[in-house]
Amino acid sequence: MSRLDTLRGPVPPRDHNARTIAALAANPGCNRRAVMDAAGIDKDQTARHLGYPVTVGQSVFAITRARAFEEQVKANGCAQLLTLLRDKLELSLPEVAYDDVENVGGDRNLRHSRTKTLLRQAAEARGGGTLFDHPMLRLNIAGKSVYLEPALIAFQLKGRFHVVEIKSFAVIDGQADAGQVAAAARQSAVYVHALRELFADLGLDPGLISHDVILVCPENFANAPTATLVDVRQQLTVLKRQLSRLTRIDTITNELPMGLTFDLMPDEDGAPTRSRDELLKAVSEVEARYAPECLASCEMAFFCRDEARSCGSTDALGRTVRDQLGGLESVATVLGLADGTLLAGQDQAEIASQLRLVRQFRLEATA
Ligand code: SF4
Repeated sequence: MSRLDTLRGPVPPRDHNARTIAALAANPGCNRRAVMDAAGIDKDQTARHLGYPVTVGQSVFAITRARAFEEQVKANGCAQLLTLLRDKLELSLPEVAYDDVENVGGDRNLRHSRTKTLLRQAAEARGGGTLFDHPMLRLNIAGKSVYLEPALIAFQLKGRFHVVEIKSFAVIDGQADAGQVAAAARQSAVYVHALRELFADLGLDPGLISHDVILVCPENFANAPTATLVDVRQQLTVLKRQLSRLTRIDTITNELPMGLTFDLMPDEDGAPTRSRDELLKAVSEVEARYAPECLASCEMAFFCRDEARSCGSTDALGRTVRDQLGGLESVATVLGLADGTLLAGQDQAEIASQLRLVRQFRLEATA
C-alpha cells in the first residue's frame, strides 16, 4: 500500500475537477492541501469531523444565474458572443465555423476524441475562425486522468486558439471583483494548460494556445455581455509548479510519521468512527500555510484559520500583511520586536526598526 493510500484509508480517492485543480494554485505553499489532494482525501468530510464544516463553491442561485447567462451568450450558434468579439475586441471573423462537440453524445471518451479531431483539423487548416462548444479535455493529475468539461469555447484566431471563459459576475464601470477575476483566471489557466497538453500529445505546437483568455461577463446591471482579455501566464506558472509538486509528493510524505492516516474509519452506514482528537492530531502533523484566500477555495479553511490563530501565526493576517512583516512568522515576535522586549537578530534589524517606528506613531496618535 502506498503512503497516499495509507493516508486516505480504505475509501476510493476523490476525483478532481477544474475548480479543485484551479484551487491548487490558490495556495501553492501549503503541504497539507498538497498531501490531501494527492491522496484524494475528502477534505469536506475531514473538516466536518474536526468540527469545522465549510461550504466552498457557488450557491444554487449563483449556479442558476451562471447557467442562464452562458446559455444566453451561446444561443443561436454563439451569435451574441461573435458580435461581441467583433465589436469589442476588433477581431476580424469573416467566416465562422461553429462546432458543438456535444453532438457526438454524452460519453466523455467520445467527446474527448471528437475535441481532439476538431482541434487537429483546425490547427492544420491554419485559417478561418472556428468556435468549439462543449469541448472535453483531459489532464493527468498525480497519475490519474481527470476529465475537464469547460463551459467555454476554444476559439481560433489567426492560427492561435484562445480559451473563452463565460462568468456571470458583473463588470461595473469597467471594474470587476478582483477575487472573482483571479479565480476565473486560475480556472482558465487549467484549461489553457490542458489544451497545451492535448496539442503536445497530437504532435502540434502547444504555443498555438494563447495565454490570453477571453473573459466574458455581464456589463453593469444589465445582462448584456462584455469581453476582456486576461493574461494567465502567472497562473499557468503556479499551476504547473503545483502539478509537478503533486507528482513529487513523496518529498513531503517521506517527512511524515510512518503509518500516519486521515482515515475516518467509517462504520457500515459511512459514519466516521474515529475520534475527533485522534484525527486532529493526525491532521496537525502536516504543515499548513493558512491565508484568508483559503476561505474561498479550500474545505479545510475554518480549521486551518483557527489553528493559525491559536498558534499566533502571521499567516492568519493574510499574505499582504505577512509580506509587509518581512516574513516574521509569529505575532508574538512582531509585538516583541515592536516594543523592544525582544532583541532583533541580524536579519531582523530592518523590520524591527520599522516596527518600532510604527509603534511610536501609534502611541503618539492614540495619546
Ligand atoms: S485551508 Fe488549510 S489545507 Fe486548505 S489550503 Fe489553506 S492552509 Fe492549506
